[in-house]
Amino acid sequence: MEQLLTSPADATDHKSFLAKKPLIISGPCSAETEEQLIATCTRLAATGKVDMLRAGIWKPRTKPGLFEGIGTKGLPWLQKAKQLTGLPTTVEVATPKHVEDALAFDVDVLWIGARTTVNPFSVQAVADALRGTDVPVFIKNPVHPDLELWMGAVERLAKAGVKRIGLIHRGFASYGNTEFRNAPMWHLPIEMKRRLPELPIICDPSHICGNRTGLAGVAQKSIDLDFDGLMLESHIDPDNAWSDAKQQVTPERLAELLDGLTWRH
Ligand code: PEP
Ligand code: MN
Repeated sequence: MEQLLTSPADATDHKSFLAKKPLIISGPCSAETEEQLIATCTRLAATGKVDMLRAGIWKPRTKPGLFEGIGTKGLPWLQKAKQLTGLPTTVEVATPKHVEDALAFDVDVLWIGARTTVNPFSVQAVADALRGTDVPVFIKNPVHPDLELWMGAVERLAKAGVKRIGLIHRGFASYGNTEFRNAPMWHLPIEMKRRLPELPIICDPSHICGNRTGLAGVAQKSIDLDFDGLMLESHIDPDNAWSDAKQQVTPERLAELLDGLTWRH
């Protein structure tokens, strides 16, 4: 990575899209209906504790037959949520068409999901679609604990000219039932922080835990490790969410959870 940074200004660029630390990103796992998305986003904004809105528009699901996202028709809903709240937005992209559509609807920040980071062809296609744009991009760790693949995705984007790259730690799959849906394996994101100190790294407790009870503990741990922010899923009716129902919390519960954390000064 060192050789990909051409000047000290490049290093500041990477951090510069985090308007503040900690950066708090929240929103539903998936955009479902216009009403659900707007209500979730306006209630999140009303807490005054969220800096950026997230919504899954295209959902890469492990198994077929599950809800695979509302698709491009959800983008105008997210654009409306942005206009109503004044908050920037972020969306997962996995293909060049996703990049094109998201940018056409004013999405501010993109992220690459864990199931895409594992695939160099997909990452390269997304990187090529980003060439010539100046949009910041977060890269989630790959599903399995392979740091070189995570590094490779960073390098592909950097080589395509993406100047503002961030990392998202969402835990790593392991076989069998554990306390976590995706084990945090904290030593791995810590090693990424050591290798790429100029890149912001935020934690996604929702996909690490896969339940509501563990969220605060994982969020606190990431703050104690000096992560730069959090991405947490929120839904107006978590139990009836079309994806990731077990781990989502209402906007008001999210605010309580954030209030209960001890922040670094
Ligand atoms: C998500 O953010 O809803 C998602 C699908 O996450 P991940 O790529 O971490 O599984
Ligand atoms: Mn999700």
